[in-house]
Amino acid sequence: MGQHREKGRILMRAAWVVGHENGRHVLIPDGELVFEDGAVIYVGHRFEGEVAERHDCGRALIGPGFVDLDALGDLDTTVLGFDNQPAWKKGRVWPQSYMEAGPREMYAPEDLVWQKHYGFTRLIRNGITTALPIASLFYREWGETWDEFAGAAEAAEALGLRVYLGPAYRSGNTYVTAPGEIAFHFDEARGLEGLEQAERFCTAFEGRAGGLVRTMLAPDRIETCTEALLTRSAQVSRDLAVPVRLHCCQSAFEYQSVLDMHGKGPPEWLRDIGFLSERAILPHLTYIAGVNGIAHDAPDLEILAESGASLAHCPLVMARGGTMLRDFARYRDAGLRIGMGTDTHPPDMILNMQIGLMTARMAAGDAQAVRAGDLYDAATLGGADALGRPDLGRLEPGARADITVIGLDDPAIGQVIDPIQTLLLNGAGRDVRSVVIDGRFVMQEGVIPGVDHHALHEGAQARFDAMVAQYPDRTLNHPPVEEIFEPTYPIKKDLA
Ligand SMILES: [Zn+2]
Repeated sequence: MGQHREKGRILMRAAWVVGHENGRHVLIPDGELVFEDGAVIYVGHRFEGEVAERHDCGRALIGPGFVDLDALGDLDTTVLGFDNQPAWKKGRVWPQSYMEAGPREMYAPEDLVWQKHYGFTRLIRNGITTALPIASLFYREWGETWDEFAGAAEAAEALGLRVYLGPAYRSGNTYVTAPGEIAFHFDEARGLEGLEQAERFCTAFEGRAGGLVRTMLAPDRIETCTEALLTRSAQVSRDLAVPVRLHCCQSAFEYQSVLDMHGKGPPEWLRDIGFLSERAILPHLTYIAGVNGIAHDAPDLEILAESGASLAHCPLVMARGGTMLRDFARYRDAGLRIGMGTDTHPPDMILNMQIGLMTARMAAGDAQAVRAGDLYDAATLGGADALGRPDLGRLEPGARADITVIGLDDPAIGQVIDPIQTLLLNGAGRDVRSVVIDGRFVMQEGVIPGVDHHALHEGAQARFDAMVAQYPDRTLNHPPVEEIFEPTYPIKKDLA
């Protein structure tokens, strides 16, 4: 184990502690929390027993670590689309020429492992204590590999991050044949091989690192998975009792493609093939019948809520793409379980809660539709519930000691009204000071033992630049990089 666990009881105190009572978070002013052997043993005002160590966190909020159901686990390429659209024109859909020449890996195997280590350090830096990594398959030859996930398990163990891991797989892919013309290519055998590898991975890695490493299934996205792949994934998820995550209802193109292929919208189709269950985790569910331009008529929200599946809500990536969930309050009131994911850079759960709150109110046209606590619940309890983990996402005796300390004393945070509302108004991932996972201090005052954030940052930029340089090869008609990614303003290199 990379991070060692202190012996004896550890006490932490701060101006505010988020405790938990009768299924709800509670706020404890001037609170104390004690953990021992990785589990919380006390949350309250004054602990009377002996302790081995005391940490006074001062003007800070001690709360449960965030559970990230769609945790950014690579060098994010989605950001390249920020001002560069449409996707098919800007190298985000493979051109036919590239696919026929045989897709290839754009990173060396060691760089894929490096990205996991780098990504995990950023997650910890942002107060995420449980992560279900997501990465793009766009720069891959096809699916994710055993080796990079074996590396990810090692990185998680070395850093002390709680993870659910599984290599992503798929049966199909989209490609662009001519401007705006998108087609599908399917190779069912390849998808099933991917599932077989994922199943072996789950069996081999479940419970490693003293239980810090768990496993999951990750069929990539609904429109690139065949019925056989999804029904077998659901079966394996049931047999192994592991979560299964599938991107679904994330774009109008996807919804229409599923309708065209199966004669049903994504929720109906998933229900009818037996995919939906309480083990299913579904990013992003923004495009459902009747909203965001989907004309199809079906009780999508009811189907999803009844199934017990969970939404992985990633408001930042959606808002950057010009869309939002319509709306959080309606989904919540339908009884759908809502957890959260970061999905794009920065992997900042606080920023995601803020955008989630604002877009929820905009979509509902009502400032009272959603409160700060709805988003904080989703980022903690919602994610833990999606994983069937009543011992995560809350701080009460018996829960795992997964703790995030967020400073409330930086001048930028302004005046504190209530710590959660202040966080949703003025906080940022950068305010996360210390992180405890499973009773180990994995970050203290911004320092992750053995990690040089600046060196990693430089390494990430170099790898990112090398990857961007390969875009022409995989962009329709192969324009030069400068044409694919246009500068915000004309770049003047030789001004007199
Ligand atoms: Zn996503």
